[in-house]
Amino acid sequence: CGIVAITGPNEAVPFLLEGLRRLEYRGYDSAGVATLVDGGIDRRRAAGRIDNLAEVLRTAPLAGTTGIGHTRWATHGRPSEGNAHPHATDRVALVHNGIIENYRSLRQEVVDRGLQPESETDSEVAALLLTALLREGATPEEAVPAMLARLEGAFSLAMIFAGHDGLVIGARRGSPLAIGWGRDEMFLGSDALALAPVTQRISYLEDGDWVALRADGARVHDAAGREVERPFTQSAYSG
Ligand code: GLU
Repeated sequence: CGIVAITGPNEAVPFLLEGLRRLEYRGYDSAGVATLVDGGIDRRRAAGRIDNLAEVLRTAPLAGTTGIGHTRWATHGRPSEGNAHPHATDRVALVHNGIIENYRSLRQEVVDRGLQPESETDSEVAALLLTALLREGATPEEAVPAMLARLEGAFSLAMIFAGHDGLVIGARRGSPLAIGWGRDEMFLGSDALALAPVTQRISYLEDGDWVALRADGARVHDAAGREVERPFTQSAYSG
């Protein structure tokens, strides 16, 4: 339902939690965050309110300056901690808004490739497909378009990759995703409202785009794989 992401010099979790709170009005049943810690993926998830996630993070803090966050409105799989996003493997953590229509056949495919789903969601197959591609030697920027080419449905995604601190990749097809340009840091939000505390400088991805964010900027690719520029807009929201 709601997506936020950050990379740059600052701790990820305070921004992620604040961004998720700003998306609460859209409704949700669970929430979670993942960051890179010493190059590895770590995550915290909780069913119910963001306060529950904040409580989990109080007892088990999560460091890291590259991270993703999600509020889930379940469509496939009951609302629970185990079905909450981010979905993660040793290689990648991923948050997803929307529906992956062909998840059944993709799930069978990743099982045949030796990967084991841990949740009941449609979303997890995207993380597992990426994991298979990364294990075969693809870089994140090769694996993401290859994975996207396999998905059917309307969705937006944000991902972080083990061993790639400082990199966030986002993608959209039929579901909005905004890039926030900070001072030496970059953000993603499914809604510009989530980015209001950190920047008013926004560019919206167009349908089929995917973007690689690093602290110094964004490289956007369109559905055909061409590198493209997307115009800046001034967010209507402030602070
Ligand atoms: N279809 C996904 C799920 O059920 C994502 C739902 C959402 O947009 O929050 O987990």
